[in-house]
Amino acid sequence: MKKIKYITITIFVFMLALGYILKYAGTHNSYKSTQFLFDTTCTVTVYGKNSKKAAEEVFSEIEKIHKLTSYYSPDSEISKINSSPSNQEIEISSHMSDILSVALEICKSSDGAFDITIAPVSELWDFKSGKNSIPDSEKIENALKNVGYNMLELNTEKSVIIKKRDGLKLDLGGAAKGYACDIAAKILEKHGCCGIIDLGGNVSCVGKNPNSSSGKWKIGLQIPFKPSGEYDKTLEVNSESVVTSGAYQRYFYNDNTLYHHIINPLSGLPTSQSFNAVTIKADSSLLADCLSTACFVLGEEKGTELAKKFGAEIYYY
Ligand code: AMP
Ligand code: MG
Repeated sequence: MKKIKYITITIFVFMLALGYILKYAGTHNSYKSTQFLFDTTCTVTVYGKNSKKAAEEVFSEIEKIHKLTSYYSPDSEISKINSSPSNQEIEISSHMSDILSVALEICKSSDGAFDITIAPVSELWDFKSGKNSIPDSEKIENALKNVGYNMLELNTEKSVIIKKRDGLKLDLGGAAKGYACDIAAKILEKHGCCGIIDLGGNVSCVGKNPNSSSGKWKIGLQIPFKPSGEYDKTLEVNSESVVTSGAYQRYFYNDNTLYHHIINPLSGLPTSQSFNAVTIKADSSLLADCLSTACFVLGEEKGTELAKKFGAEIYYY
């Protein structure tokens, strides 16, 4: 009798353990994949039964967003917009419409500190080429005449935009990765997966972290100008996005002066600030991306006000 009781308990414990292992194995089936897109290293870590399928779909979709928004690809939608004549309706995709409506809202709310029509100036600085030269001030002044989000009209119902001035060009470098993160997050959710999407400085966390009892994800804030992986602050994050804009992300030195890629649309020069980076935590990565660039240009006081207005957390360092 005692032996039967012992066997029954053993079987019960075994079944319990098996059930737990199966459940645990189901959620911890992870898949990690890395590709070079948006001129940066993009890594997706997915947990869940369909992790591989979800990660593959993520890359296929974010590659499409990259192709639509790439300033340097002659076939991209952004290049088509930039080469289209002014005062005519230009048809845009639904992705473009979604990006532009949030981006233009931040252009307005930041009084043009964030300005997606910065392209004529950012093209002169050309951080991508590695030439590391300072543009002629006269050229900057002329280029600034073609910068102003007010000269761009968006009609989301008709899915069209109108450029009100010849020479108006869009640069979505401060918004596109955020949008791609949001699309990727939706794909993970659709597959019932959780995970982290990291598009070089734009990080989106999806669902609950299966490796943490609280379900929260830990995101380290890189110390500016130190090798990646060195953190002095860590954020605890739910299903949210963390986006950083930093002077250390793209820069060069000329005569011991640092020139970085976040341009003040008033001067056409890299924004000079006492901090090196700003991080935004928000539900939407597109919003966080636009805000991080805007708040870098605005500085601590006005930037904090703007972030608050959109319900986002902000950290300057
Ligand atoms: P982020 O790293 O998100 O802050 O975006 C920086 C990128 O946005 C730059 O590399 C430019 O392509 C573009 N950019 C630079 N300055 C501005 C600005 N003031 N407003 C909007 N986009 C900008
Ligand atoms: Mg940004």
